[in-house]
Amino acid sequence: MILILIFLSTSTSITPNYKVLRGRMVEEQIIARGVRDSSVVEAMLTVERHLFVPKKYQPLAYGDYPLPIPDNQTISQPYIVALMTELLEVKKTDKILEIGTGSGYQAAILSLLADSVFTIEIIPGLATSSEKRLDSLGYDNVVVKCGDGYKGWREHAPFDGIIVTCAPEKIPSPLLYQLAVGGKMVIPVGELYQELILVTKNSVGITKKNIIPVRFVPMIREH
Ligand code: SAH
Repeated sequence: MILILIFLSTSTSITPNYKVLRGRMVEEQIIARGVRDSSVVEAMLTVERHLFVPKKYQPLAYGDYPLPIPDNQTISQPYIVALMTELLEVKKTDKILEIGTGSGYQAAILSLLADSVFTIEIIPGLATSSEKRLDSLGYDNVVVKCGDGYKGWREHAPFDGIIVTCAPEKIPSPLLYQLAVGGKMVIPVGELYQELILVTKNSVGITKKNIIPVRFVPMIREH
């Protein structure tokens, strides 16, 4: 009996209050660094990031850093997720393409802001597990596909926004082509040194703006 009580009291005292941690993450890492879009802030407060990382990392899920997910990949730092999402300026009617599903966390954030999210992951195990996770959490306007995101997703193009969460050496031309006129793409580009780039497409062409240096896993190609 005593043992059970000790177990219960220690186990409840070490289970973090994730809602409180999430609120603190948003205040200290996201709003404090200048993310102002209220719908992005709301989405970051809503999505339960700890459910997107392996169990042993759950208590660290709201920290100011990326975390490992299976297959040697990473879930991006919360601030980078918020910044990239804000840069996309997503509207409720938008159809968004994501390259690099990973855990599905970025897709879940986008799903709260957009009409639909199409996301491509090249590692089969990750595509399957994130699809299951998004499904069980009720993010039902997200469609996951396993494949090489370099090529985009022609059947569903054009996209109002494209977000790439792995770094190619150059902006893939199929993605530029599949971006709608008036749409935006946020993409890390480079090898060891990478820069986050905001691409805007209008009726006369493409404009590119460098945002900040970043470090993403490389975009791998299907052979
Ligand atoms: N957005 C993710 C984090 C992505 S990590 C999240 O919120 O958790 C980058 C992911 O891109 C990895 O899962 C990696 O397997 C994937 N990736 C790398 N090259 C790719 C490609 N060519 N097409 C699709 N996905 C790719």
